Amino acid sequence: MLSLGFALLLLTAWSCKKSAAEGEKPILLVSIEPQRKMLEELAEPYYSVVTLLPPGSNPETFEPTVAQRMRAAKSQAYFPIGYLPFEEAFSATFEGKAPVIDTAAGIELLSDTHSHGDHDHAVADPHIWSSLRNGKIMAQNMAAALAQLDSVHAQEYRERSAQLSARLDSLDAVAAQAASGAQAFAVWHPSLSYFARDYGLKQIAVGQESKEVSIKELKRIIEEAREDSVRVFFFQREYDSRQADNLNQEIGSRLVVIDPLAYDWDTELIRIADELSR
Ligand SMILES: [Zn+2]
Repeated sequence: MLSLGFALLLLTAWSCKKSAAEGEKPILLVSIEPQRKMLEELAEPYYSVVTLLPPGSNPETFEPTVAQRMRAAKSQAYFPIGYLPFEEAFSATFEGKAPVIDTAAGIELLSDTHSHGDHDHAVADPHIWSSLRNGKIMAQNMAAALAQLDSVHAQEYRERSAQLSARLDSLDAVAAQAASGAQAFAVWHPSLSYFARDYGLKQIAVGQESKEVSIKELKRIIEEAREDSVRVFFFQREYDSRQADNLNQEIGSRLVVIDPLAYDWDTELIRIADELSR
């Protein structure tokens, strides 16, 4: 009993100390986990990076709660993806309080990859982070913003940015090599449009969110996938569809679960490319 009490006391002391130390650091806010990794590689140890989107949430339907807005108000800058539905209204709340950084500046956008119901105009595909090449641009934009926010360490941010760019370039070469044997892949939600563009692949999107797909549409997709000799069918954990299993059998592909919102977004893209090489 005594030792347990002592251990608890130690643990409490340690966690208090830890949170006090963290509390001293200014906070940078990002929308999703892949951005947190990019920004941490550049901004640590000077800043703490906080992700707005809670684990397991869908960025295309997410709405920040009042508590999340209040916590977000304490950050020194906000780094949105730029094209997620909740971001425009959320970014407006920072006006006059903290800078909102255009993380996607310079990225060539794709549109018309998603059918989001009532829109009939071209909508930019928000999944810009599903590309090592886009990730490099995003990181460079982040580093430029950091150099302005904290000019004392500007040189350090520039050096880190150069290192990160070089790292992403070499990962990109690895992914390009791995993906070079494939022509097309199937995916439940079209979250890999930029990845497909980078490596000259055809993305065959099978579903939208968790909605069921009509029999006629399914037949067309299966035919297309067979014609393009699709070997891999990527599926996202957050969607629940029994259709995916059946479809996968019809196509004769291999079902691979992916996590496009993983913190380790870069190694996840390498894994996706690697699955295409097998
Ligand atoms: Zn999407």
